[in-house]
Amino acid sequence: MDEFASAVLDWFDRHGRKHLPWQQQPTPYRVWVSEIMLQQTQVATVIPYYERFMARYPDVAALADAPLDSVLDLWSGLGYYARARNLHKAAGIVMAEHGGVVPCEQRALEALPGIGRSTAGAIRALACGHFAVILDGNVKRVLARYHAIDGWPGKAAVADRLWTLAEAHTPTERVADYTQAMMDLGATVCTRSRPACDRCPVGSDCAAYRSGDPVAWPHRKPKTRKPHRSLRMLLLRNAAAELLLQKRPASGLWGGLWSLPEAEEEADLERWLGERFGLAMQAVEAWPAFDHQFTHFRLTVAPLLVDVAENAGRIQEMAPDNLLWYNTAHPAPGGFPAPVVKLIEQYRVIAGTTGAEQ
Ligand code: SF4
Repeated sequence: MDEFASAVLDWFDRHGRKHLPWQQQPTPYRVWVSEIMLQQTQVATVIPYYERFMARYPDVAALADAPLDSVLDLWSGLGYYARARNLHKAAGIVMAEHGGVVPCEQRALEALPGIGRSTAGAIRALACGHFAVILDGNVKRVLARYHAIDGWPGKAAVADRLWTLAEAHTPTERVADYTQAMMDLGATVCTRSRPACDRCPVGSDCAAYRSGDPVAWPHRKPKTRKPHRSLRMLLLRNAAAELLLQKRPASGLWGGLWSLPEAEEEADLERWLGERFGLAMQAVEAWPAFDHQFTHFRLTVAPLLVDVAENAGRIQEMAPDNLLWYNTAHPAPGGFPAPVVKLIEQYRVIAGTTGAEQ
């Protein structure tokens, strides 16, 4: 075991986290779900979602059997919904191709939707007791600083270098503890903006610390301007004060979630509503526009509350699985994207249906 690994393990024995819910009975299924939830989200946010998820889907069979809508509903608020869709799809594959047992082989894990090299490594190290290497965001940061690796880790050559170092440091004994220790070290000591180098177990040999400017690593992504998109989101209200919801296609932005209909900004709304949904426009009220940030672009949402009259039964005839009139006093029919949650909350206030169950 190299000095780096042994210092990290000593630190883990004294300061590492040992009571996280997924550390109890760390089966491959439980660790897998936690790793997926933790991919873009902080531990403190993940814990209640994880506990609800495990209570509802205690094993891979329960997850595979569940309707995607219910899974997305439980995921509502965690964001990055592709993670939930992939998890659900992968559970189906585990049932069909692995007899319901989450595999412990690197290649079999990486073949499942949503599981990359590092997540597969984490499942193997934490739940299967295998020698395996991880390189998640926390580990990248620690190693890029410790070795002062130049270049943006999103570049293949830089990532390759970091993988080689990650492998070289990973010990053959106590691999689960080491893996957890590296995640904890990155999350609690070698943090993004304020690393606590004075209490770091590897500080004495850390090149970034010695440089006097540890936050200079890892190098940032070269700047590009985020593209901007805008859309008109319609709160179509019928005579019963219900809103029309439209389910988005299974793939793409907000795939599989219930959303509000969207119209091109330049479309003639009255005509568009008639042609698209058989609805007659009666009154329109513009609500203030707001921005929603995605990783790759900025979206400006311009909401419109539109009172409509419908031709009896027309909507139901058109696409019964994709459209529904939603009474906002009732529980949500599935997951909503964050901007839609916000608009429905605002609508509940004016409709007097606040406090409805989500
Ligand atoms: S000494 Fe500082 S920069 Fe280096 S690994 Fe430790 S916390 Fe990170």
